[in-house]
Order: sequence, then structure tokens, then C-alpha cells
Amino acid sequence: MKQPKIPLSRPYLDARDERRVLAVLRSGQLSMGPEQRAFEDRAAKRIGTRYAAAVSSGTAGLHLSVRGLGLGSGDEVITTPFSFIASSNCLLYENVTPVFVDVDDATLTIAVEQIERRITKRTKAILPVHVFGQMADMKGISRLARKHGLAVIEDACEALGASRDGIRPGVRGDAAVFGFYPNKQITTGEGGLVATNSKRLDRLVRSLRNQGRAGSAWLEHRTLGYNYRLDDLSAALGAAQLEKFDEMQQLRRQAARRYSESLSEVPGVRVPETPTGAVHGWFVYVIRVPAAARARVLRALDREGIQAKPYLSLLHLQPFMKRRFGFKRGDFPVAEQAMKETIALPFFPGISHAAIKKVSSAVKGALT
Ligand SMILES: *Cc1c(COP(=O)(O)O)cnc(C)c1O
Repeated sequence: MKQPKIPLSRPYLDARDERRVLAVLRSGQLSMGPEQRAFEDRAAKRIGTRYAAAVSSGTAGLHLSVRGLGLGSGDEVITTPFSFIASSNCLLYENVTPVFVDVDDATLTIAVEQIERRITKRTKAILPVHVFGQMADMKGISRLARKHGLAVIEDACEALGASRDGIRPGVRGDAAVFGFYPNKQITTGEGGLVATNSKRLDRLVRSLRNQGRAGSAWLEHRTLGYNYRLDDLSAALGAAQLEKFDEMQQLRRQAARRYSESLSEVPGVRVPETPTGAVHGWFVYVIRVPAAARARVLRALDREGIQAKPYLSLLHLQPFMKRRFGFKRGDFPVAEQAMKETIALPFFPGISHAAIKKVSSAVKGALT
């Protein structure tokens, strides 16, 4: 008999979420109702920024941040290739050139010491990606940004709940974008959020997400905008999820601790490292194994009905990126090596201790 599957991720949903979404459904006001504001206010408080604007996806939030900060044709933005495609697509939508910098081997976030040599007269911003729930070195990044007069857009789509050196996403950057796809720390189904301390940027994002309208004139469009609004059903789910965010993070931390306890002594396994002074946001739990053994480990997990995946893909090696910019293998060796070694293991709030043991022993079995 085939073993029951242990999924890679699973949203943490319960009756509290259902009640809140159902109330919107019954109210008949499915978009632009009170839940959008309720979700935004609660999120801003949690994130620690003055403003937060809900949008239809993390990708939409990144795009509006790029538009809102006035980046465009001929501009360059420094970012990393170890990410999800949206963090560079948002630049390409506006004809901005992504300039990639390799990552730091321990955190897989941007290697800050390599940024300065890539700054040119065209550089307008830095776009760090807080990958897997691990924050980039925002202290170093904001120091460089100030020195060179650059904007900072944080791709914080994987980093709700993270911090480093006491700095949370959104606090130092001009904008931090969060994502709420079902595998993220909290979900709205599809959805995202732009957090900022800039009143001007917040206003612009609100206008751009709503077809370029400003104020209450429904038929007046001041700028070229989009429909990137988050509907009220989704916002209600987000608000309910935020209410139990601490509980969910607690469960994620507990699962991560259990994994690390069972796996840190296994020869060949590198468990996630958190730099001193950092709090991991635990989006996913990703181990690294020797590149030559990875396929074997993945096969062993699959045989046991355990869902696991190589994480993430490299942006500079995507077919359209290679065609457009001429990137090739070897351009970013640290990111490329990591890409050959990573495995995301089943990880979500409430994953059972038994499941963690089962996954761990399958990994161990494949390596020893
Ligand atoms: C999830 C994610 C996004 C946004 O994804 P959406 O599906 O558009 O919400 C952006 N960047 C990173 C790094 C992500 O993980």
C-alpha cells in the first residue's frame, strides 16, 4: 500500500478563518469593503511600518513598488539571482535592468560586500530578497543605499516575522513587499502587501492598484494604473490569519527546531544557519546535501510518500533571461552551488513530530 503523502506545505486554516470569510460572503460586499482596511491596519501594526497597502499578489506589490519609486527605462537595480522569478520580473515590466550580485553562502541572501563594485551611474535601487525567511543584511544594505543615494525595495514575500540586528522588513527599506500565497507564513489565497513609512509611496501604490484613480472620483484616472486590488474575502482571511500569527510562528519554530535536532548530526547534511542577532521567519525548511547525493535523497523521500523539492531556481539561468542578457552558468558560483544542494522538506504549522521523524530518517537513510 502506498504510504500517505506528507505534503511540502499546507495552510493553517480553521473555524476562525471560515467565520470571518463567511461573514464577508454574507455581507454581499466582496471588494473594497471594510476588511481591506482592517487587514491593512493590522498588518502595518504587525510589520511595524506606518502604512501597508494590500494588493492582489506579491508580484503585484513588487511591480507597484518599482512604479511607485519612479524606476524605469535605462535604470539599473542591484538584486540576487537566488530567488523566485517575481523579484526580477517586477523590474523587467518597467524596462529596468536587473544587475545580479551573488549570495552569501550561509544565508543565501545578497552578498553585501559585492554590491558596491556593481554600482554605476544608472543604479537607482537595491532589491534584497529575504530568502526562505532569512533576512538580508539590511544594516549593511541601508548604509550603502544612503552613501550612494539609492532606494531600497525589500522582497519580504518569504519573511513575515523575520528580523536581523533588531531590524524587521520594511523598517529600513523604502518599501517591503509581502506575499500571501497559500504556502507563505500567512495566506489570503492569492495576495500581497506593500509596507512603507512613506506617505507619498503609500498613496501612489493605492492609486496604482486601483486603476490610477485618486480620491473618490471613480471615473477619473490620473495615471496609468492596474487592477491589483485585494478582494474583501481574501482580506478577511488575511486578518483572521494575522490574529493567530504568533501561534503559527511558534509552531513553525518548533518544527524547525525538531528538524534541526534530528538532522544536524547526519553526515553530509547542512541545516539552516541563522546569523547571530537574527530571527528566522521560517517560510520553508531547507537543508543542503552534497550535490552528487541530492537526486538520491529526493528519490528516497518520494518513495516514502514525502513531498520535497529543490529550492529555488536561479533567475539568471531561466531561458528568457539567458536570451535577453546573455547570462551563463558560472556567473554566480555561490548561488549555483547552493542550487545544486538544496532540498525543501515538508514544513508547515502543525506538522506532526512523527512526520518530522519519518522525513529525517528517510534523509538519513539515503545518505548513510
Ligand atoms: C512568493 C514570492 C513572491 C510573490 O509571489 P506571488 O505569487 O506573486 O504572491 C515574490 N518573491 C518571492 C521571493 C517569493 O517567494
